[in-house]
Amino acid sequence: MDIRLRGHHLLCLLGFRGMGYSAAYAANMTNVYNRLRDEPGTLVTIIAGPDDLCACFPEGEEAHCENDSVAGLDARALKQLQLQAGLTLPWTAVIERVRKHVMPEDINDLCITCQWRSYGVCEAGVRTIKRGEWLPPLPQAEAL
Ligand code: SF4
Repeated sequence: MDIRLRGHHLLCLLGFRGMGYSAAYAANMTNVYNRLRDEPGTLVTIIAGPDDLCACFPEGEEAHCENDSVAGLDARALKQLQLQAGLTLPWTAVIERVRKHVMPEDINDLCITCQWRSYGVCEAGVRTIKRGEWLPPLPQAEAL
């Protein structure tokens, strides 16, 4: 089964180090991350709006998944990657787009509204991919 991802989550996954909005959110993202890491040919369908990661956003917290600012993150990420909602492609093809079209410092502009940007993990994740490396294993202490 393919994984449904919105535009900016294609980049978020590169910087994922086990953190998230809740334990359940992080656990679900860990599952998605590890599947993409272990099965690079996994098909990803790009969708507009809430996706398979948003599905575990904690109930009771102010949901932002349908906010314009988050849609803006999607639009900027997809434009940079030269992709669009509705496409289905293997994860390896997403990685090739990152290698070709994204620089680590682009995260600062693409993700200007994101609360996670200051951690630097997403920029580091792009840098890893640009070096020709693959998704690294998650840190044991942080993986949920
Ligand atoms: S800075 Fe935020 S939106 Fe950008 S890739 Fe990282 S987590 Fe995703």
